[in-house]
Amino acid sequence: MLPISSSASVPGPRKHLSEDEHLFRDTVRQFARETITPLVHAMDEQQKMDAGLIRQLFELGLMGIEIPEAYGGSGGSFFESILAIEEISSVDPSVGVLVDVQNTLCANALLRWATEEQKQRYLPRLATEWVGAYALSEAVSGSDAFALQTRAEKRGDQYVLNGQKLWISNAKEANLFLVFATLDTAAGYKGITAFLVEKSTPGFSLGKKEDKLGIRASSTCEVILDDCHVPAKNLLGESGKGYKIAIETLNEGRIGIGAQMLGLAQGAWNHAARYAKERRQFGKAIAEFQAVQFQLAEMATEIEAARLMVYNAARLKDARQDFVKEAAMTKYFVSHVAERVAGLAVEIFGGYGFVKDYPVEKFFRDAKIGKIYEGTSNMQLATIAKLVL
Ligand SMILES: Cc1cc2nc3c(=O)[nH]c(=O)nc-3n(C[C@H](O)[C@H](O)[C@H](O)COP(=O)(O)OP(=O)(O)OC[C@H]3O[C@@H](n4cnc5c(N)ncnc54)[C@H](O)[C@@H]3O)c2cc1C
Repeated sequence: MLPISSSASVPGPRKHLSEDEHLFRDTVRQFARETITPLVHAMDEQQKMDAGLIRQLFELGLMGIEIPEAYGGSGGSFFESILAIEEISSVDPSVGVLVDVQNTLCANALLRWATEEQKQRYLPRLATEWVGAYALSEAVSGSDAFALQTRAEKRGDQYVLNGQKLWISNAKEANLFLVFATLDTAAGYKGITAFLVEKSTPGFSLGKKEDKLGIRASSTCEVILDDCHVPAKNLLGESGKGYKIAIETLNEGRIGIGAQMLGLAQGAWNHAARYAKERRQFGKAIAEFQAVQFQLAEMATEIEAARLMVYNAARLKDARQDFVKEAAMTKYFVSHVAERVAGLAVEIFGGYGFVKDYPVEKFFRDAKIGKIYEGTSNMQLATIAKLVL
């Protein structure tokens, strides 16, 4: 188990880390560099998350960072989840999203809305052995998430779920799915209800696994609910309040995606800077050309701004202050920085940036998802516009 900070927020500049947070970050950094790095290429090629790596993430407490120790978790802060996602993503953003969905969406939803009985059953499992998945999107409902068509019908002491979810991250590895379905189509978004669905539930299965541009080691699958019989006690929160659970978890999840994209940008920058010092053209290292220095300086400046935004949003959340605008701005801005920095890193590598023998090609592919999932850039701008105008 990794060392976890006892303080939820520290004074001083937003980037300032407490001693405990430093120790936590450095430990995750060392783990990511030493243990994840050797697996990255093969996991990307095989489109498969290494099972041993998932076990190690559990053993280190990284799959239940905010889950209280009383439920077997690490008892850390949201900010520490963000540090972990950042450090892991600087080596592999696919592993970053596994840890992100587990902590900022699944565990988070249970911590806020589960009954004590649900917490007793699921939190210890999520902290130690069960991967979680978050199933909201459908073929017809992406940005317009609450137009979802999956139905839930109460029959005795069970709910029967029918429908298909699309694009569900972690689905191949997950044991527990947070599924959003509507109990009452006439009620619109007020009919949407959240359910905790175990993989072994009768009527639950996985469909097609997507063959993706980036984050290829992260599984993304269809989820099929065909007369899926979920015990009534597995309704999460209140019936008709699923939209609130979705909105509120995604507000926090967006900071997680910001951290994933921040780590990605830093990882790409690290490789580009190292390469620029090694690669020689015209008799000197390319890092000696002012044009290359300026590219790296601009990238570093954008990463610094991105880090301030991610940390600020996470600190606000831990301090229980409003963070919705900051979270949307963070995801919007940092995903843009990640794409730009990864693209420039490819250019600094020249031809070697375009092939799979070097890591920046993968960072460039992985960056694209930042502007798409957990709300596209347009949807972030819509939220920001609503809050600033
Ligand atoms: C790799 C991957 C992993 C994912 N993981 C999950 C997951 O774990 N769980 C889950 O529930 N979902 C997941 N998703 C789904 C993801 O959240 C959606 O793809 C995303 O919300 C966009 O929805 P869409 O694909 O239907 O695009 P659409 O909503 O069809 O959008 C298409 C385009 O239209 C634009 N657009 C749409 N509406 C508006 C508007 N009102 N104003 C301006 N522009 C608009 C969008 O910005 C976008 O550019 C994942 C997707 C991917 C690709």
